[in-house]
Amino acid sequence: MENLICPSCGRKYPPMGGPWRCECRSPLDLEFEGVLDFNKIARRPPGIWRYRESLPIEEDSNIVSLGEGSTPLIPSRVFGKDALLKLDFLFPSGSFKDRGASVLLSKVKELGINEILEDSSGNAGAAIAAYAARAGVKCHIFVPETASPGKLQQIKAYGAKIHVIPGNRSDVSQAAIKEAERIFFASHVWNPYFLQGVKTIAFEIFEQFNFRVPDSVILPVGNGTLLMGAYLGFLELLKQGLIKRIPRFFGVQAEACAPIFQEFKLKNFGGKTLKPLPTLAEGIAVPDPPRIGQVLKIIRETDGTILSVTEEEIMEGVRELNSLGIFAEPTSAVAIAGFKKLPNVPGERVLIPITGSGLKTFQAFQKILPPK
Ligand SMILES: [Zn+2]
Repeated sequence: MENLICPSCGRKYPPMGGPWRCECRSPLDLEFEGVLDFNKIARRPPGIWRYRESLPIEEDSNIVSLGEGSTPLIPSRVFGKDALLKLDFLFPSGSFKDRGASVLLSKVKELGINEILEDSSGNAGAAIAAYAARAGVKCHIFVPETASPGKLQQIKAYGAKIHVIPGNRSDVSQAAIKEAERIFFASHVWNPYFLQGVKTIAFEIFEQFNFRVPDSVILPVGNGTLLMGAYLGFLELLKQGLIKRIPRFFGVQAEACAPIFQEFKLKNFGGKTLKPLPTLAEGIAVPDPPRIGQVLKIIRETDGTILSVTEEEIMEGVRELNSLGIFAEPTSAVAIAGFKKLPNVPGERVLIPITGSGLKTFQAFQKILPPK
């Protein structure tokens, strides 16, 4: 069975009843070697559970699934350049976070836990609430006052209890951390089982690319769960000798709240207080991401970079997606806006996951669309 391991100090903990973070306060990773046999996988139905031997759940009977995964990959012309868009918002709860929620709630069920807690600005909260409902687990979601009304309604609809916390995203995290002394912390950021689910995006890309990988991946970064999850998946493919290199990772943040961008560019940002401004990309407005060190390591190791984009550029990204027939939330358009800024390399295969449905942030479109 797998162990929890601290990437910072190396301490190990058993997964059963282990703490939600290390004694040294670092987030924990999972020490787990999956198996990928694509001859076997090819014969299975679509969805993340086709990679069964790579997902750290012991018993099939504990799997909590709503048929998530195997999202479309569509070649597109974006701002006059070629890109492959992976429609990773086509999920039961409307965002890629269902990948992580399915595996995390399966683990919760396996551990026999019947009450969980999560803090989220919306999409992760909705995903955890959906899979908690499916698993019959009592669920508490801590949210900031600024969360989209649509996302809050969705969380409520799944029967989760919403706790609205005054202040910014950090205040919400602090409130959740306090409560985590009492209730199991099913956090999409802290709990490594969530990332184990997110990694399936890399396996799907590998299959859809005819058992190869793109040259680069551009994605929005707040806490960096998609970036870390995708990297984990590519790393697993690399370790098993199925690919020779991992794609370059380009993370994009909204200028209004860009701690990872600042740390990457300025290098001595740590310790300063960031005053986030309001942004259309509320899904990635995270002033103090707990796994920032891991995110930066991946960016550097893959020879990628971190970009930031303005609110105007995000709106332009939204309109570009709309013009391609895609109704995504503004947070997803951050990656599109970042793609526009990168130089065009002929023949380069660029993949951009589109992460959340526009139906969740209906109100935001009043600002983005021109008035009639
Ligand atoms: Zn540690």
